[in-house]
Amino acid sequence: MATPASVVTLIDADLRRSFGARLHHLYADMDQAYRQVSAACGFICHGCDDNCCWSRFHHHTIVEYLDLQSGLASLTPNEREQISTRAVEAVKAPAQQRPPCPLLEDGRCRLYRHRPMICRLHGLPHRTERPDGTVLQGDGCPAFHARCGPARLRLDRTPFYRRMAALETQLRAEIGFSARVKLTVAEMIVAMGPEVDEP
Ligand code: SF4
Repeated sequence: MATPASVVTLIDADLRRSFGARLHHLYADMDQAYRQVSAACGFICHGCDDNCCWSRFHHHTIVEYLDLQSGLASLTPNEREQISTRAVEAVKAPAQQRPPCPLLEDGRCRLYRHRPMICRLHGLPHRTERPDGTVLQGDGCPAFHARCGPARLRLDRTPFYRRMAALETQLRAEIGFSARVKLTVAEMIVAMGPEVDEP
C-alpha cells in the first residue's frame, strides 16, 4: 500500500515547488487571521507547558508532509540526525510521558516556517462550520482563558480547513494517492528518516 513516505518520492521538484508556494500562501493567511484575533483579544503566546509542542496532534495531509520534508532538507545532516533521533524516542515513548515534539529546541520550533496548520491555529477559541452546516466551537488553550477569560471572539477555521482540503485534493489527484494520513510530527519525521532528499 502506498504511504506518504513512498508517494512523496514520486513528486518532482516543480510539483513540490508549486504546492509548497500555495501552501505557504495559505499559511500566511492563517497567520494573519491568528494575529488579528489574538491582538483583538489581547493574547500573546509566551509558551507554556501545555502548548501544541507538548501535545500529540495528528496531521492528515500529504501537502504538509511534503512541506515538512522540504524544511528538514534545508537543515544540516547533523541537525537532521539529532531531530530524527528525538523523533524515534518520541514515537517510542508512552503517551502519558508527553514527549515534546522533536522539532522543539530551547523552547522554539526549529522549523517554524514549516510548522503544520494545527500548530498555527492552536490556542485561540475557534469555530468551524462543517459541510452540513453544523457549527463546532472550541475553547482556547488554558493560557488563553487564564489571561483573557471567556471567549469574546473566535478564530473562524472554516476557510482555512476548506482551502487546505482543496489543496490536498488537488495534490492527491496529481499523484494518485488516496490513503488516509494520520501522523504526528514525530511519526512523519521517523517515516522520512534522517536521509531526507533535497527538494
Ligand atoms: S512543529 Fe513546531 S510548532 Fe508544531 S509542535 Fe512541533 S515544535 Fe511545536
